[in-house]
Amino acid sequence: MTTISFFPAQCRACQHAFDAPHLGDFTYGEFLLTQERGQAFATLSACAEPAFDHIRTELLRTVPESASTDSRTGDRFLYIVARCASPMLGHGLLPHGVCPQCFSRSISLDDAIPAHGATVPATSFADFLGLKLAEQQARLRQLWVESAERV
Ligand SMILES: [Zn+2]
Repeated sequence: MTTISFFPAQCRACQHAFDAPHLGDFTYGEFLLTQERGQAFATLSACAEPAFDHIRTELLRTVPESASTDSRTGDRFLYIVARCASPMLGHGLLPHGVCPQCFSRSISLDDAIPAHGATVPATSFADFLGLKLAEQQARLRQLWVESAERV
């Protein structure tokens, strides 16, 4: 569990106002994942989470073109990692914030003064890591295709 600051945010699609978590701009290798309904959050440390390197290694083995170092491939990789995370409250995770009312990712956040803090658990990869290696690789191939449309 990590305590994260939540800031005032507003959805650009439906104007819903809510508090959204934000890690700050100088958190290299630290990510915050959002459940796709905006109901739950999880932290992810690229250095501390062994699943991060495992997913990268298996993705490279399964999809050689994922070796590209351009920023879009990096964004696709982070999307894939988020989709490999275990669901929270019955829904999968995304690498970006979403509106809890209409699920749009188009939200504006005012990071000047935090509204409140809350503890956020570390991302679990137990479900993905519990799959057989061939099943993990099939899932990564599927997510690579999916990431082209979603990122
Ligand atoms: Zn909305």
